[in-house]
Formats: sequence, C-alpha cells, structure tokens
Amino acid sequence: MITRFAPAPTGLLHLGHVVNAICVWGLARAMDGRVLLRIEDHDRQRSRPEYERALLDDLDWLGVAPDLYPTSAFRAGRCESRQSDRLAVYESNARGLIARGLVYACGCSRREIAQLADPSTDGEHPYPGTCRDRGLPLDGDVAWRVRIDDGRESFDDLWCGPQTQEPAGQCGDVVIRDRHGQWTYQFVAAVDDYLQGVDFVIRGRDLQGSTGRQIRLARLLGRERPARFAHHPLVMQSATQKLSKSDGATGIRDLRARGWTRDAVIAEAARRVGLIAPAATLSIDGVPALFRDQPPRTTFSNPTPVHR
Ligand SMILES: [Zn+2]
Repeated sequence: MITRFAPAPTGLLHLGHVVNAICVWGLARAMDGRVLLRIEDHDRQRSRPEYERALLDDLDWLGVAPDLYPTSAFRAGRCESRQSDRLAVYESNARGLIARGLVYACGCSRREIAQLADPSTDGEHPYPGTCRDRGLPLDGDVAWRVRIDDGRESFDDLWCGPQTQEPAGQCGDVVIRDRHGQWTYQFVAAVDDYLQGVDFVIRGRDLQGSTGRQIRLARLLGRERPARFAHHPLVMQSATQKLSKSDGATGIRDLRARGWTRDAVIAEAARRVGLIAPAATLSIDGVPALFRDQPPRTTFSNPTPVHR
C-alpha cells in the first residue's frame, strides 16, 4: 500500500495538517504501507518556497518521515514529487486526453458560469457545457475542460462507508488547466496519484466530494484500478467553519514558540477529532496503535485492512 501526505505550500502547517499526518502515517504503519511526500505547489500564485521550507522543517520536528521522497529530497533542489517540477508530466497527460478528443476550450468567465447556475441549488454548480461544441482553439485565454459523461462512481470510503457520486451532475466537465495556464488541483491530484502508484488516499472530509471526479479522471488517464479512499474528520474552528492557514492559534510554529512539545501537539490534534479521549495523551510512537488496536470507527465500514 502506498499513501501520500500532500500539503500545499501556501501557508504554515496547522493542527488540521497534523490530523492528516496522524491518519496517513498511522494507517500506513498499521497496514505495512509506505508514505510518499508530495509538495502540491501547482498554484503558482499562492505557493511560496519559504512555506515549503517551513513545512519540511515542521514535518521533521513532528517526527513523521516519508518513506518515498524524504524531506531531504526536496531540500536538495529539483524533486520529481514537487508538482512545479512535474509540469512536463501534466502536459503530456493532457496531450493524451486531447488526442482522444476529450478536451475542449472553455471561454466562459467565472461570472458567466455563476449566472448560468440554478440559484435554487446550494453549493457546487455543475458547468452546463456551454463551450462543449463551440470548437474554440486550445490556446490563449481559455480554460481546458475534460468531457465528463453521465454515470456514477462508487467507492467504499474506509472511514465513511460506501459512497456514490455522479460527477456530471455534480460538477460537469472538469477544468484541468485554468485560463491562466495553471494545472488544476483535480487534474494534478488524479495524474500524480495514478503515476506515483498511490493506491490509498487518506485525506480530510472536505475533499470527499472531489473523489468521484478524480476516480473518473484517473480512469480517462488510463488507470484501471481506482485508488481506495478514507476521508477523516476535520479540525473545526467552529461548528461550521474549518480551520484556515491564517488561524495562528493552531499553527505548529506558534505552538512550538509557546513551548508545546511534539507529543503535546500530536495529542491535541488527535483530541480535536476524537481519535483519543479528551483526557488521553499520545506520543508519535503511539500513533500506529490508534489504528491497529482500536480503529477510530466505530467509523471504519470495512476494518479488514486494519485488522490484518
Ligand atoms: Zn465555457
């Protein structure tokens, strides 16, 4: 089993990342799997090298060591698990989709898409396919969209149970390259998980809604067996708002500066999502046992891989 820890260097690590690290390394160790580190800096506007250096330092401090692409591989310079060093990979995979007639140019602005949306539905609005047959050239100020046909994607979320999503109705044709020429998260995540051999994706529940379209994209790219998925609970700022990187109160840097030990940070993160009881303590070495001895479900629908 290969899973991945894939932070974006757009801010400093906070307790939400620590929860993800606990689940990724804990499940990997409990399942004899390996953890791959990937730096998701596909967003060139928001990513910063200083954030990457800070997150590598914080991972070392937390004592979570990637089995594939250790932090030293990123510090050494160019690294094939850093997305900005993989642009040729995205280009060639997009070219493959284009050659099969699956990609078209979309000239709609964000505002035009919003106006087409049905205001009676909350949340995500599916793109209605306005530019599907316009035949716009794939250059200049246009987004690249992949045709998403009707059909369901089902997966057994190891944490949340069986799920079914319908990408065409949920989001419509997926943007893989935005109008500024940047590869999108949905595309690079699908490409990287496939080509890097990631077969178990462990991430926060805020990304659960993206799973169906990523399974579909991966299949279009040639992936025969989809990855498995587990979506863990999120650290919340309040009942309805998730933590943001600007929330200094839970930033690892700030906690360290205030004298928190590594194990105190690990325990606080685990406590915030109910992985341990409010009064319990936890050390980094105790993390795999959380998943080996008492899988946090109650929650796991299919505990088999955990209880080998
Ligand atoms: Zn359009």
